[in-house]
Amino acid sequence: MKRFSIKKVISMILIFSIFSTQSSFATELDDAMEQKENLEKELNNSEEKLENLKESESQINGELENLDTQLTEVSGKLENLEGELKLKQEDIQRTSDELEYTKKQLKSEYEMMKKRIKFTYENNSMSILTVLLESDSIAGFLNKITYFLKISDYEQRKMDEYNKLANEVSQKKEKLQKEYDEASALKNEITARQEELTSLVAEKQKAKEAAAESIAKAEEEESHVQEELDATNETITAIKQALAAMEAERKAAEEAARQKAQEEAKKQAENAANNDVSNDNNSSPEENTNNGSGGVFLWPCPSSTRISSDYGYREIIDGVTSSTSHNGIDIPAAAGSNIIAAESGKVIIARYSNTAGNWITISHGNGLCSVYMHASKLYVSEGQNVNKGDVIAAVGTTGSSTGNHLHFGVSLNGAYVNPWNYLR
Ligand SMILES: [Zn+2]
Repeated sequence: MKRFSIKKVISMILIFSIFSTQSSFATELDDAMEQKENLEKELNNSEEKLENLKESESQINGELENLDTQLTEVSGKLENLEGELKLKQEDIQRTSDELEYTKKQLKSEYEMMKKRIKFTYENNSMSILTVLLESDSIAGFLNKITYFLKISDYEQRKMDEYNKLANEVSQKKEKLQKEYDEASALKNEITARQEELTSLVAEKQKAKEAAAESIAKAEEEESHVQEELDATNETITAIKQALAAMEAERKAAEEAARQKAQEEAKKQAENAANNDVSNDNNSSPEENTNNGSGGVFLWPCPSSTRISSDYGYREIIDGVTSSTSHNGIDIPAAAGSNIIAAESGKVIIARYSNTAGNWITISHGNGLCSVYMHASKLYVSEGQNVNKGDVIAAVGTTGSSTGNHLHFGVSLNGAYVNPWNYLR
């Protein structure tokens, strides 16, 4: 499977030299740091919001407590008043009975007196008797009878007593009725206050429930932001670790190259000394340029050979041209298609990021890495060793991607290089 022509390679090299490549890891790190900053701001806002909500909840609780106390007080007063009213009612009933009895007594005394007077004076002064007997009030009668007749002291006293008693009882009843009316008015007033308080308590109770609901919602939001922040911090740590690992590999490679150069120099010096022996050098210049790849890469997506965006081109997404050049090649393929390891090595990144989606980086030693992005599924995990050709992931469109494809990149010492240099 020959993927490129000489002409294409030349154009690639030109593009490669025009657009500076950027480390995907550094970009990923920048993105993650920015995301972290935003999430921290969001978290602060959430915490502030939650604090305000809790403050207003405790205020509502205070008000509710106050209202409850008032309601208890008013209800107690009302209960006392109802007891008082009941007693007063009984008092009034008793007084009414007393009054009724007194009036009856007075009437019967009056009737008896009338009979006796009638009997005594039947044969005399009929005209005076008629006048007297026509009196409609007891007081009027008593005045007249005192004037016209001489009645016994006993009768006089008895009538006065009953009359006085009837007046007293009547006054007592009036007073009780007045007291009852006053207590009744107070009861109405307090009942109205109780109703008002009850409706205020119900209102506050509703506000309390709403506040609790808002708090629960804000807490859920906050914990969600916290989770996102934790995940972002994890990503940052992983990228930093990967960068450190690459740096260490780069240094080791530099050291190895330095030692090799020393040995070569030593060998050449020896060869120069041994001028009589002429040896053919077996190493080809091509191998020297293949910096530590350990061989030619396999095509990473066996089911598709199409390229939708090549290395070095600027991507146009939604009509906007990307500010950086494309640091890999995009291979469109059906969702779920196999992604294979282009070369044996150790998986140093296998995780999710907002831009790369589910992505994998395999370190092949000597600072050389292969990168696979936007997978729907990852079949390997960080730290795992993989063999060339192993299925490591499934094609997908996770992260910032507009369709199912594999973004395949190659990095050397942390900087992206042209993948075509390593592919068959
Ligand atoms: Zn791409």
